[in-house]
Amino acid sequence: MIDGRVLIVGAGGLGVPAALSLARMGLGTVGLIDPDPVELSNLHRQVIYGISDIGTPKAEAAARKIIELNPGGVAEPIVAAIDESNAREIVARYDFVIDATDDPTAKFLINDACVRAGRAFVYGGVLGMGGQAMTVIPGRTACLRCVFEGPPELGEIASCREAGIIGPVAALIGLLQADEARRFVLGLESGLAGGILTYDATGAPRVRVTRVSPRRGCACESRASIGCGDAPARN
Ligand SMILES: [Zn+2]
Repeated sequence: MIDGRVLIVGAGGLGVPAALSLARMGLGTVGLIDPDPVELSNLHRQVIYGISDIGTPKAEAAARKIIELNPGGVAEPIVAAIDESNAREIVARYDFVIDATDDPTAKFLINDACVRAGRAFVYGGVLGMGGQAMTVIPGRTACLRCVFEGPPELGEIASCREAGIIGPVAALIGLLQADEARRFVLGLESGLAGGILTYDATGAPRVRVTRVSPRRGCACESRASIGCGDAPARN
């Protein structure tokens, strides 16, 4: 059993492979927050769920499966959407957070809540044949707003939804996120703190890690006790 508490925000394309991986490695506590029930259209990609789970909240169905795989562990399902009112309090209960949402606005909400609460997290994003992941250690490495400044416009978000998500790409990013959680709770060095990984499976797959530095004046500074500009630049 690995001692540690990891929260997965979103029990879908990224969150399911991350949850399975954490359960199989024997992580002590996995929290899962997701407001939605399992639907038929989820089953091909979100392999933790079966036909009998349709209509059950994803967080609860996934939590049951996690306990089946890791009977000595604890799963904490939270059937709710993460929002301004609950984000900081929820992330503060965990050692490490996995952003497995498909909503750009939620990603910035998680970023700000984790920076404020001083909790490390790994961002993940997938779109079509591409994926991204980056670990943020508040006060040490660049946050999401250092890199992207803010969520895209609503029109852009809509066109992203149309581009869809490819299951194997999401699975790869979700597994990388679980590995970042594993490294963090074991006290090992992160592979993706201070670097954003991009995976492009159009044609021959390519993986690249681009170093990113904390940016003074990053918008999280107005929200956080530890601003990114205060962070010592790495490398
Ligand atoms: Zn920042």
